[in-house]
This record gives sequence, structure tokens and C-alpha cells, in this order.
Amino acid sequence: MFKDPVCGMTIDEKKTQHVLELGGKKIYLCSTACKDQLAKNPKKYGL
Ligand SMILES: [Zn+2]
Repeated sequence: MFKDPVCGMTIDEKKTQHVLELGGKKIYLCSTACKDQLAKNPKKYGL
């Protein structure tokens, strides 16, 4: 399991379709909204 850094929700990385790659690391998210938030400002979430 993986934790969505934006909203803190637990994500099943096999099920989610929202994945963002940051510096070679895959970040799994619950929604497009969270993905957009993270893409805009990864530093805010410590990434
Ligand atoms: Zn989320």
C-alpha cells in the first residue's frame, strides 16, 4: 500500500490509475485533482 501525499488517503498501487513520476519515483494518487496538485507543487508535499 502507498499513501497519497496530497490527501493522506491509502492507495492500492495496483488499482489506482493516477500515477505521477517524480525524479524516477512513482507516486500513486487517489484522483486527478490530487495528481494536479502534486504536479504543480511537489515541494509542498516534500517531494
Ligand atoms: Zn488524494
